[in-house]
Amino acid sequence: MTGGDGRRFLPETSTSNGPSGSRHGGHAGLQWSTMPYGDAQRTWFPEMLDVLRVRWRANLSFSEMIALRDELDAMLHRIRSERHIRTPVIRCRRCGHVGPAAEPDVTVRAMLFSLGRFGLVPADAMKLLDKRWAAYREQHGLDLYGKPAIAGGAAACGHL
Ligand SMILES: [Zn+2]
Repeated sequence: MTGGDGRRFLPETSTSNGPSGSRHGGHAGLQWSTMPYGDAQRTWFPEMLDVLRVRWRANLSFSEMIALRDELDAMLHRIRSERHIRTPVIRCRRCGHVGPAAEPDVTVRAMLFSLGRFGLVPADAMKLLDKRWAAYREQHGLDLYGKPAIAGGAAACGHL
């Protein structure tokens, strides 16, 4: 479990600049080639990286990045649904409901981290981009997905 804001994205705790970092126990994320095929929490698939590789340009605007995220996110959900990958049943930390965990999503930040992680953007540039994105997000009042944030935040329980 990554905890954090409750959304699952690439583990951002591993900040080592090593080629692919160390393995976290059974964590979804990197090194899919060595991971079991149907990891329930998986948020990246090789097909998505292919798209990222083809579409990524250093001069993309933030709105273009958000559009690219939308595409990758749609792809993630399509792949998961086609392969019948389901999230595990959990007890919600927030409301106590027992049921399938929320589907993982691609956040803009997870996409940026992937750029660094898979070597499409040098680590320094990725960190800078991440900072610029955080500033842009704040300035425009956007959520993790680059959409206008809903005032008040705590919307209906999506079961984390
Ligand atoms: Zn809940």
